Formats: sequence, structure tokens, C-alpha cells
Amino acid sequence: MRKHIFNAGPCKLPEQALENTAKAVQELGNTGQSIMEVSHRSKEFQAVMDEAQNLFKELLNIPDNYEIMFMGGGASTQFAMIPFNFLKTKAAYVNTGTWSDKAIKEAKMFGEVDVIASSEDKDYAYYPKFDIPADVDYVHITSNNTIRGTEIFEDLDSKVPLIADMSSDIMSRKVDVSKYAMIYGGAQKNVGPAGVTFVIIRKDMLDKVIDRTIPSMLKYETHIKKGSMYNTPPVINIFVLKETLTWVKEQGGVEEMERRAKERADMLYAEIDRNPMFKGTVINKESRSRMNITFIFEDKYKDLQDDFIKFAGEGNIIGIKGHRSVGGFRASTYNASSTEDVKAMVACMQEFEKKHA
Ligand SMILES: *Cc1c(COP(=O)(O)O)cnc(C)c1O
Repeated sequence: MRKHIFNAGPCKLPEQALENTAKAVQELGNTGQSIMEVSHRSKEFQAVMDEAQNLFKELLNIPDNYEIMFMGGGASTQFAMIPFNFLKTKAAYVNTGTWSDKAIKEAKMFGEVDVIASSEDKDYAYYPKFDIPADVDYVHITSNNTIRGTEIFEDLDSKVPLIADMSSDIMSRKVDVSKYAMIYGGAQKNVGPAGVTFVIIRKDMLDKVIDRTIPSMLKYETHIKKGSMYNTPPVINIFVLKETLTWVKEQGGVEEMERRAKERADMLYAEIDRNPMFKGTVINKESRSRMNITFIFEDKYKDLQDDFIKFAGEGNIIGIKGHRSVGGFRASTYNASSTEDVKAMVACMQEFEKKHA
């Protein structure tokens, strides 16, 4: 029986994507080979790669002056690759938690970092407001903070290249891609399994690459020129990503994903706000994430934390323990998460209230 999966990442994936991948692991089409055996240079795999890129383009309405790449190394490698390629003197970063903090740490190896806004003062429990300076090489934001559960829903205007880590909210809302110079993320939060990273980059960014020695694998140009096949790409991961995006398209695209995400988040936040045992951790409601819903017990119920996680587990609800740096609870409701999953979670909170409040 399938569980109600609220893991923060790797995420729950559509069953259809799992089933089609299981088949392809046995045999890809009529090739007589598994997806894990087929040559990445074969026409069969090229078709998988092309479709994955085309689906990304179509679902996010990506303009023609952008390239889409799939590579390894996770979003964490992008933290270094971005400043390696684009940080000449100074870059602006918004610090909204662990992931941006890690991005900042890497950038500091290459140049000056101006942290233009931070929510560190309140333990990252809100999304800070900020103005984008005009005198930086680029500005970097984390659109959704997977650990603290804050999110920005606006596509900002920027005169300097705007780069966004959208690891955990990509394809969950309509995005005006033209406002960004680059959007990237690990696939494992919303569009696939771990092991493949998506990078959407405006072509003119290649003219802005700093004149310095950069290893081939860490240059965007290398991957663009070779159609994400400079080295052996993560073949099966790209296949699962393609299957996941096929499902997104069949369900009605990003617009429908956004509608469902709102519905799920509204339902769960409503229960958190109503239930006397729980409270949300994000200070201002407008920056509450739709993807990672964070909450804690009211003080007098704090000792029941492990009991609640165990109780939820008995109802087949898994993955709701908060990040080790935060504690409490976090229900991650990515694209493949269903209304039924959230209904089960709400029912579980209500039953727990009956027993203990
Ligand atoms: C998970 C996550 C990362 C790290 O991704 P990896 O692919 O594991 O390197 C970076 N940024 C955000 C916002 C994340 O949620």
C-alpha cells in the first residue's frame, strides 16, 4: 500500500511516472535494452532528452532566448558554478535560510558578496523585503525555503541578472521566466528524482562569463554546446523527470499544479490555525510556503512531539518531522502530493486533538 508521503526531498512522485519507469527499467520501448543500458547517444535516449527539454519549455512558457540544461551535481554544485562563471567583483544575495546561506558561502570564494536582505534575525521565519542594487554582477534569491517554509510568489523586476534557486517550488506556480537570467534547482523536490539538476539560462548570460580559468565541467557553455551530453548525463533520472512532466501536462499543466498547491496548502494551514494544539512557524502569512508547511506544537504539548509522529505513522503518514535544524513538523506538499494525502493529515491532527487536547 502506498503511504501518504510528505518527505521534503526526495519527493513523492506520480504513480504513473513510477510505473512507466519500472517498465523502462525492464525495457525501453522495443530496444531490447533497459533505460540503464541504452547508449545516451542513441536516438531513443535523444528522444527522451528532447522531450524532457521541450516539456520544461512548454510547461513554463520559456521564451526562445533561453537554454534548458540537465546536469549532475545537484543544486549545491550550482551554488559554486554561478559565481565561478558570473561573479567578477560583487554579487547581491538574499539570505532566507540554510540553502541561501550555502550559496553565499560558495560565492564568497570568488568575489564580494553583498547580503542585501536577511531574515536571520527572526530565525528565517519570514521572507524579507529588499531592493535590488544596480551595481552588482547579479542578484541571487531562493524562491522557496524548503527548511523554514517561506516562499516568495512574485517575479521581481531587476536591471541586473536575477538568478533564482527554485529547487523546491519549480512548476508549482506560473513563473514569468523572462524576468530571470537563470533559474535552477535539484529535480528531487518537484519534478523528478535526485541526481539531475535543471538549469534554465538566458542565452546572453554566456556573454557575461568572466574571463578566468574555469574547468570544462563547471562552464555552462560546455553543457549548452553539447546539449547536456558533454559527459554521460544521468540517463534514468532524466527519464523519470520526463515522465513526471508528462504527468504534469496531462493533469492540466502548471496552472492546475498551482490551483492544487493552493488548495492543499489552504486546507492544511486552516487546520494548523484552528487546532488548539498546533501553531504555524512563519510570522507573516503571505510568505507561508505552499510546498513546505512548517508547524509546531503549542508549548504545553511539546512533549507529545514523538507521539504525534508515531501516531501519524500508524495512519500511513510519513515524512512530517521538521528539519533537524528547526524541529517541530513539516509537511511537504509538492506537485504529486494529493488532496487525499492532505485530508489524511488533517484528520490525523483532529484525532490527535480529541485524544490529547
Ligand atoms: C534541496 C535544496 C537544495 C540542494 O539541492 P541538492 O540537489 O541536494 O544539491 C538547494 N536549494 C534548495 C532550495 C533546496 O530545497
